[in-house]
Amino acid sequence: MVLTTFVAAEPSLPAVAGPADPEPASLVTLTVPDRAALERLVGSGADLTGRVRPQPDGSIRVDAVVTPSGLAELRPLGATLATGTPAPAPEDRGGTKDRIVVERAVWFQSRDGYFLSVEASSSAGADAALTVTWKGKGGATGQVEMVPYVDAGAYLGHQFSVPVPAGVRPDRVTITSAAGGVAEARVGEWPDGERPDRDRPGYQKDFITQYMPPAQLNARVKDLHRRFPALTEIIELPHLTNGYRRHAQALIGTPPGAAVVVTSRAYGSEGGNDLAVELSDPGAADRTLAVVVDGKQVRVSLATDGSGAPVSTAAEVAAAITGAPGSPVTAATYRTDPGAGVLAPAPLTQLSDFLGAPADVSREPWRVLALRIGTHRDGSRTGVLAYAQEHAREWVTPLVTIEAAERLLRNYPRDPATRKLLRRADIFIVPTVNPDGANYSFYDFNAQRKNMTNHCPAAQSDPALRNTWGVDVNRNYAVGSLFDGYFGASANCQSGTYAGPGEHSEPESRNVIWLAETYPNIRFALNVHSYGGYFMWPPGAYRLDGRVTLPRPSRQQEAYFLRSARTILEAIAAERGTVTWPQQTGPVTDVLYSAAGNSADELWYDHGVYGWDFEVGSDLWNPRTGAWEGVGFQPPFAEGHAEAMEFAAGLISLIGVAADYREDR
Ligand SMILES: [Zn+2]
Repeated sequence: MVLTTFVAAEPSLPAVAGPADPEPASLVTLTVPDRAALERLVGSGADLTGRVRPQPDGSIRVDAVVTPSGLAELRPLGATLATGTPAPAPEDRGGTKDRIVVERAVWFQSRDGYFLSVEASSSAGADAALTVTWKGKGGATGQVEMVPYVDAGAYLGHQFSVPVPAGVRPDRVTITSAAGGVAEARVGEWPDGERPDRDRPGYQKDFITQYMPPAQLNARVKDLHRRFPALTEIIELPHLTNGYRRHAQALIGTPPGAAVVVTSRAYGSEGGNDLAVELSDPGAADRTLAVVVDGKQVRVSLATDGSGAPVSTAAEVAAAITGAPGSPVTAATYRTDPGAGVLAPAPLTQLSDFLGAPADVSREPWRVLALRIGTHRDGSRTGVLAYAQEHAREWVTPLVTIEAAERLLRNYPRDPATRKLLRRADIFIVPTVNPDGANYSFYDFNAQRKNMTNHCPAAQSDPALRNTWGVDVNRNYAVGSLFDGYFGASANCQSGTYAGPGEHSEPESRNVIWLAETYPNIRFALNVHSYGGYFMWPPGAYRLDGRVTLPRPSRQQEAYFLRSARTILEAIAAERGTVTWPQQTGPVTDVLYSAAGNSADELWYDHGVYGWDFEVGSDLWNPRTGAWEGVGFQPPFAEGHAEAMEFAAGLISLIGVAADYREDR
């Protein structure tokens, strides 16, 4: 089932795909047979989304961004395109009577009605076949099969694949095992945290009208500071990004053997796009290969044999172009090919950086901005850092931070609760951590996840691969990283989860850590991602061997994480009835998958900052099909707007939790 085909807006490209054109990418739902296969996908560096859904038959569905060749590489790992509804779990596997423990049985009410979610474990482990029977008001009842949850070989219990509609409020559940075990439990309410105050006359909200590229976000931050100078300041983060820019390139000849990839030394925007390369037939016998640099033109005169036929190979021409005195370009053979093929003459070919943004989108290194909000911005108040769009294509996430900032500032004069918040908290908001990638997502390739910096060697740097370059900013941090032996990041520069050449190699990640180091009063952080509807905290990574996670928080800290989460999830639900599922609330390694080198882990383990992660964009219940449906990275704006509204409320609730924390101490 193909959900979305990403369309690259590249007017400079020919209509028919050629060897210099990237493969199309699609957002699809994949099925893998089990958790081990999902882990193989994570290990392969596949570009997975956060939407992971176990199925009743034990298989797992995960949304991913794939190209046709990328999908072909995932098939041997067990992935197929999901279709239809999977078969129910097999019944009655026999064996001796097992012991059942109910971990959690909760109901919640969303805008679509009552839902039930149960987690339990069996002493028989993953092989147990567990069935939940529930009873509710007026004798209502229903039955659901549970799904075993096995991660990196460890049995973590049984759960529902997704919350199931119950029609009425369920009161009691009975869990029976095919092996004979039985357990009963009352059904509690979820999230059942502190309710937000709905009685706030004149409280203003809804300040976003469209998805915003980075230039608009920066302009909005500056505008907010201009309008509220007493309540805000702008912090210019010290590490400039590399910029929305690329070297200009041309692929000349016929790949693989008889082609060269020419790349400008200057960025396209700094003269590279003005360059052109020509391969000419000298029209005479026994000539030697010669390269003349003539201003912005590189003219290659091919060698000929005794009959006057060109004989220069791709390897010879590449070396001659690169070595020509004063050459403004370098050249390489195609990918890993040795380039033994003879090059045909080629007319003057213009180089291009293939960037499609209008000329008024800056190509310069980018200054990332933080907006600091509060009446006491002197380090005496508990600091809360909210940072969004580490991943470029997650267009809703900056809107969450902008909407929250506007609500805090505009309601300060009229809402006592907001006034109290700004007096007690010191808020740092970074709407876009990864502006270069965001520009690329807006103007060139909307599935872009990573930043724009290409660390690939020449063999992986021909222009058709340009949509695969960049570093996954949220795998570039220094705690529990790939370089420390943790799982869930890739060393391949083309992978969706490429960790970069080293920890903190990228200015985007250094900026986030700089904030934590410079403002030690920051004790809470919220990393805003999309999509799938999660609320998570550390640990976020484990070593594969033995599933050894980063140290788990103490029981007290975990209880605090969960209690706070319940309050924050109430605030989200109050906006339009979206309830973040209980099985998607918890430590990253428990509810999603291992993500080596993510930012929340570094904030928590190195800086003592409570590091939370939102995945905004919860599944929407489709009553017609009776199924939960994913919302994607860039839903129609009406949906993106609604997500920003609800998670802005969640962010403000988190700031309230942070302000209370100061008093708890
Ligand atoms: Zn993300």
